[in-house]
Amino acid sequence: MNLLLICREIFKMLINGNFPVEDLKGVGPKTAGLFHNLDIRTIEDLLKTFPRSYVVFGGLKKISELKYDEIAAVRVRVDLIGNIRHVKNHMTILPIEVSDDTGKMVIKYFNMPFMAKAVKKGGYYVFRGRVKKSGSDFTLVQPRKYASDEYSELQGAYQCIYPLTKGLKNTSVAKAVKSALAKAEFSGDYLSEDIRKKLNLVESRKAYRLIHEPASPEDIQTGRRRLAFDELFFFILYLRKNKDLLTDSPNTCPMIESAEVTRFIERLPYKLTNGQKKACKDIIADITGPSVMNRLIQGDVGSGKTIVSLIALLNAVANGYQGALMAPTEVLASQHFKTVSEMTAKYGLPFKPVFLTGSIGAAARRKAYEEIESGEANLVIGTHALIQDKVEYKNLGLVVTDEQHRFGVRQREALAGKGAGPHILVMSATPIPRTLAIVLYGDLSISAIKDMPEGRSPIKSCVVGEHYRPTAYKFITDEVSKGHQIYIICPMVEASDPDSDDEELENVVDYCEKLKGILGDRFRISYLHGKMKPSDKDNILSEFAAGNIDILISTTVIEVGINVPNATVMMIENSERFGLSQLHQLRGRVGRGSDQGYAIFMTGSEDDKTMERLGILAKTSDGFEIASYDLKTRGPGELFGVRQSGEFSFRIADVYADADLLSSASDLADELLKNDRRLAREENRPIREEAEYFGRNNLDFRTI
Ligand code: ADP
Ligand code: MG
Repeated sequence: MNLLLICREIFKMLINGNFPVEDLKGVGPKTAGLFHNLDIRTIEDLLKTFPRSYVVFGGLKKISELKYDEIAAVRVRVDLIGNIRHVKNHMTILPIEVSDDTGKMVIKYFNMPFMAKAVKKGGYYVFRGRVKKSGSDFTLVQPRKYASDEYSELQGAYQCIYPLTKGLKNTSVAKAVKSALAKAEFSGDYLSEDIRKKLNLVESRKAYRLIHEPASPEDIQTGRRRLAFDELFFFILYLRKNKDLLTDSPNTCPMIESAEVTRFIERLPYKLTNGQKKACKDIIADITGPSVMNRLIQGDVGSGKTIVSLIALLNAVANGYQGALMAPTEVLASQHFKTVSEMTAKYGLPFKPVFLTGSIGAAARRKAYEEIESGEANLVIGTHALIQDKVEYKNLGLVVTDEQHRFGVRQREALAGKGAGPHILVMSATPIPRTLAIVLYGDLSISAIKDMPEGRSPIKSCVVGEHYRPTAYKFITDEVSKGHQIYIICPMVEASDPDSDDEELENVVDYCEKLKGILGDRFRISYLHGKMKPSDKDNILSEFAAGNIDILISTTVIEVGINVPNATVMMIENSERFGLSQLHQLRGRVGRGSDQGYAIFMTGSEDDKTMERLGILAKTSDGFEIASYDLKTRGPGELFGVRQSGEFSFRIADVYADADLLSSASDLADELLKNDRRLAREENRPIREEAEYFGRNNLDFRTI
């Protein structure tokens, strides 16, 4: 596409919003302080704080029309105000029987006894809340109550839900945003009308209005599209600048290709795939070359990225450098540590590994610090803790980061301060096509592993409802009898308090007990969740890896990177609650060996929409297709809810939903930089400043 950027006019700034939030009416020092906690300091910051979601006051429904798990409003008559019951944990339940001309139902309030006085028997009210099951009937739990005319007024309105911090109310943010919209001066648009037309984008100032004060789902989409474009555009500009800096960096940790590596590869029990070989070759070329390495290894779950990183680390260590391997979770870090320790012993590798995470004891940490500083340890494996200030490396030559863990500029700076500028290798399973990857990882070179190790067959997946449960359990026990292992994933850790939305979701603790009751003592069943002590987590995982646990019931802590090839079945409860990409990642935990892998997606709701959405998982194993599909099928209220990729912390853009914008933004950035590579010209100043704003505020990628 030949995009013509017209920025001959000189704009002061895109948004002249560089006033402190304190300048807004109604924002006193206290509220300002709360805004600061959210990193909102200027009016511009505030306008760029987009709603996380919207509450839409939809049309009224009849009781007979209610659907499980939807948020709905009904106009009903109160037939009976029940007695307040006291249940465990000082909890109270208040049932209220209501009806309309299509049926009856019981509404429940937990710990809100005063609701008994807030309604009158025989009176008509609108109740709005999430539809839940109570036995075989539907119920509304903790619904908001409105007078009928009060609700009619709200109907159709969109209420923005903003990110909050303790003490800050949504209404305060909404009010401040309103006055910010009035006060900010939008002094122009860096996109000419021609380009906007071509790309179907509205004017910048309009986009801010639409996103903060929408009147329809279309408004949100339209506003979002423009703001997403801006975000991607400035992100790309920022990356290009960064790339310039990086490729200019000389290789200060030069290495040679070590014979140790060749020997190791020869002795592995399998042959490397072509993709793995190519990745290794790319890495060796980088670290023996003139510039510092900044490389991404992109490969689907199970493609064998770990061994590639170990080969790179081995080469670094054989060259006398230290290496670091950083994982996003403790669980994954400890798995890597175990793998490396075992391989070191088995193949007589020169690794002297040390483990470093935030939760190891003070003594162990001190010891780790010492060994890293003295060089006694030549390989540091851990979480984010390993790039923290206190860690002094003797001669760090290579840093590998695994899964969903991208270095922001700040992390890179933190690292550069530690060594002479170590080589960096990033591993990612984020499924994006190469063309997009080139744009998104603009500052990294990419090696893609496209082929799977030999002998893998695609995972067989099915989406099923409750009635299938006995069959599923039978299937699971058959697999265990064959010597295989099983994962069962539940959304919750412990029975949530009835106050919350999630009371019916399966939780690992109860589930474990229940399953033991159903299956009996023949099976070894355990559970795992993120709130457990790290040492307990480790224990359970090593027991599972060693084959001493048959069925592991877990939350999504095992989503990232866990590798137990003997596990063949992944069963997911309440799968309607997860993002499709997340489900795809989860099923990637099985089918990692030569045995057939199976995924059973259980759902509590069998309505057509849910079945169709989950059905895509049974149809394809293309991660990109899955993620894109998920976004297309989401409603406007959920726009910003589920993050498909933990890797890119965009405020509003989404790499999957906005793939087309990403390419357009990239073309436009090329066009602009062709004529003014450093954006040094006065006419490009607003763009440069905006790119710098982006760099300051957004590029600190979320980590652990
Ligand atoms: P991921 O790319 O998801 O991080 P892993 O590196 O954990 O995948 O590898 C998954 C499994 O595949 C591991 O058990 C690993 O030992 C095995 N593996 C890796 N490469 C090969 C290969 N070339 N042939 C056979 N198995 C392999
Ligand atoms: Mg991995």
